[in-house]
Amino acid sequence: MNNMRLPTLTYSEPKTIKQLMELKGELGENCAILAGGTDIIPMLKRRNLPIRHLINIKRIPELTDISYDKEKRLRIGTAVTLREIVNHPLICNTYPLLAKAALAVGFNHLRNMGTLGGNICLDTKCAHYNQSAFWWKSRSDCFKRGGNTCYVVKGEKKCFALSAADTVSALIALDAEIVIVGPEQQRRAPAEKFYTGDGRRPHRLDGNEVVTAVLIPPPAKGWKEGFLKKSHRGWDFSIATLSIRLRNNSEGLEDVRIALNGVSSKPIRAKEVERYLMGKVVNHETMREAVHLLLKQTTPLSLIGVSAFVRRKMIEAMFVDLIEMIAD
Ligand SMILES: Cc1cc2nc3c(=O)[nH]c(=O)nc-3n(C[C@H](O)[C@H](O)[C@H](O)COP(=O)(O)OP(=O)(O)OC[C@H]3O[C@@H](n4cnc5c(N)ncnc54)[C@H](O)[C@@H]3O)c2cc1C
Ligand code: SF4
Repeated sequence: MNNMRLPTLTYSEPKTIKQLMELKGELGENCAILAGGTDIIPMLKRRNLPIRHLINIKRIPELTDISYDKEKRLRIGTAVTLREIVNHPLICNTYPLLAKAALAVGFNHLRNMGTLGGNICLDTKCAHYNQSAFWWKSRSDCFKRGGNTCYVVKGEKKCFALSAADTVSALIALDAEIVIVGPEQQRRAPAEKFYTGDGRRPHRLDGNEVVTAVLIPPPAKGWKEGFLKKSHRGWDFSIATLSIRLRNNSEGLEDVRIALNGVSSKPIRAKEVERYLMGKVVNHETMREAVHLLLKQTTPLSLIGVSAFVRRKMIEAMFVDLIEMIAD
């Protein structure tokens, strides 16, 4: 019987990014980053990950810092906790969408420990994969465990595990960029391009790369924004999260960003809907077409105790409620 204790692991606490890179280079696939540990520790206890070494990044000052330059942008170090984001006066006043999304993650204790980087790099979720080693003893491995089958969509040849992190739709709607450091170079990726859609390897990160920061452009005048999350219980993974930013006048929408997460294997930026809504007034007619386009672009899955039917209905209701509320 699996006792749900941590496996034997070695542990390091680098103090600089250079030390972190050297350690990652030495340990390769055998190690994982430990940020808040709220997700990776339970995964290790369930033997969901075959790693032997943890590298704690919370002692690297560059990763725990928030800075703001009115001309340039907001920079949030990857190991900043969700609690610090929720309590940060500038973020609450200037980027309320991000503060609301961070507040939607789990519950108080979890936000005290959990980091923005850990949320962005959260592994995809599946009620099968996230079972214990004991449970997995009685069946053959699925794709995400290196096997040859999927228990969610039988007969399919890919993994459909869910992209479930709550802050991601907000970061996409805010045009955020993710700063990634590798052994040789540093690069930036727009948040919406950071996700692969493959449930097995959901992030565009090479073996030795780590996320070091998130950059968000300064707020432009006239934008309004809103965030919604629906879940069974407040602290659960979402049925869907939705972030919308828009600029409008009496003649219609001048610009709009719509992003969803928690509905399939990668977050969705609803570009077709955005294009359709440009110049249009938010009313019953336009909403009907917008919802039609949104559902066409989204393929909600039956996962983590929620059917695809319920997810579709929820997305529809959330979208109409939120956009009407903001556009008013
Ligand atoms: C009971 C419970 C409820 C939860 N509810 C929610 C919820 O409602 N919404 C939600 O979004 N999440 C939820 N979570 C998941 C998780 O707690 C949060 O997503 C949290 O933000 C993860 O952050 P962390 O710092 O603890 O990540 P960790 O557990 O430390 O890391 C998560 C993953 O990211 C990787 N990682 C971390 N930092 C980096 C980095 N800088 N570069 C590269 N890889 C990195 C780690 O190696 C690991 O694979 C829940 C978890 C539990 C146990
Ligand atoms: S969706 Fe992915 S994790 Fe879930 S059973 Fe299928 S292959 Fe495994």
